[in-house]
Amino acid sequence: MDVDIPEIPSRYDAYRQGLREFIVGNLPELAFKQRSGLRAPEDPEDVVKLRRWVRGLHDAGYGANRDDPFEARISIEELERTRIPYVLGNPLVAGAIVRFGTEQQRAAYLPAIASGEHIWTQLFSEPDAGSDLTSLRTRAVLDGGHYVVSGQKVWSTWAQFSDFGYLLARIGSGAGRDGITAFILDMKSEGVTTRPLREITGTTDFNEVFLDSVRIPVENMIGEPGAGWSVAQASLAHERGTLPGDKEQDPAGALVRAARHRRRGGRAAIEDGAVRQQIGRVAARSLMERYLGYRVQTRAANNQTAAWDAPLVKIWFSELNLEVADYALRLLGGRGALVEDEPLAHEDGRWQDTFLYARSWTIAGGSNEILRNVIGERALDLPREPRGDR
Ligand SMILES: Cc1cc2nc3c(=O)[nH]c(=O)nc-3n(C[C@H](O)[C@H](O)[C@H](O)COP(=O)(O)OP(=O)(O)OC[C@H]3O[C@@H](n4cnc5c(N)ncnc54)[C@H](O)[C@@H]3O)c2cc1C
Repeated sequence: MDVDIPEIPSRYDAYRQGLREFIVGNLPELAFKQRSGLRAPEDPEDVVKLRRWVRGLHDAGYGANRDDPFEARISIEELERTRIPYVLGNPLVAGAIVRFGTEQQRAAYLPAIASGEHIWTQLFSEPDAGSDLTSLRTRAVLDGGHYVVSGQKVWSTWAQFSDFGYLLARIGSGAGRDGITAFILDMKSEGVTTRPLREITGTTDFNEVFLDSVRIPVENMIGEPGAGWSVAQASLAHERGTLPGDKEQDPAGALVRAARHRRRGGRAAIEDGAVRQQIGRVAARSLMERYLGYRVQTRAANNQTAAWDAPLVKIWFSELNLEVADYALRLLGGRGALVEDEPLAHEDGRWQDTFLYARSWTIAGGSNEILRNVIGERALDLPREPRGDR
């Protein structure tokens, strides 16, 4: 297939310039450092500043959700460079509300998601329901004009700062996909307890969320009762296509810097032919990653998206990312293990942080093993793997 990503026409130069000026004038000063991954700030004051920043971008006509595809591309390019989040929490619910929501839900939530006024978290995973979401146990029982919801969620990114949750719970006594229903949960509702989890990287990006007889108005259901599986599948497909927002744009370039910095046997590591070959392999594979991404975008623009497009990009990115981080640590030797603020740390300790986070990209949005199953079954028409006795 031809990959067709048109050049950005010069008439957009003024838009880019305006955005650059906006960034210089408004970039917030934060305690939070955006490193690898979907980091959540530690300091609530940073969240206030981030909300102001996203609101400012939105009101000035910038931000990643522009309808004009060239403006959207420019916004993403320029904003990624700031390494400050420009989308807060998990915006995937927007796609679900556009496709399955009511008029009232669209009016109430979509503008507030775009402007950063509402931060969302995704409440799908449970302690015993991750890859296999059909085993989720959170229950919703109808009581007059409300559903009463009880259960536990986990790995809920940004939940500690979220205003709303995109929740999956089961109605009725069925099993498997039966009864799974999508809801909008006001995170300030009585009975919601959010407990941040501290990770190996030192930050608290994830949370456990406990739901104890939480009352959700019936009008907060997204789609039909029991149709939550289809709602969730649409969002997950989108997630796999968009992960991650924050990544090294030029991994080979970053490795070249590390190899110049590192001296071995009296000379820079970059002078070693084996090191250059490894960096060359990374450069080739990251170019392939970029064109895989373009290919998926082209297919999406032509309404030709296939079930394996997004999984392929996600597997490719996450495995290359892990390999690059692993290689950078080996290249840097002991210095690679130093953390930020250590005087001898290379680039403020970025590689140990990237390495510690990198495994999570092979899990987030559906683990790579599950995505390989998707490709095997839906693209290659291989026999379906046994589903156990469920
Ligand atoms: C960075 C990050 C952000 C996340 N954010 C959120 C969030 O905001 N909201 C949310 O709800 N969840 C979130 N998650 C959770 C994520 O969706 C789950 O971690 C993921 O679905 C895997 O589930 P699990 O952790 O329970 O692992 P399990 O499902 O228990 O899997 C354990 C291992 O077994 C393998 N495995 C399982 N089943 C199969 C199979 N059939 N075939 C082959 N191998 C299999 C898996 O690949 C994995 O290696 C996030 C995860 C990460 C890493």
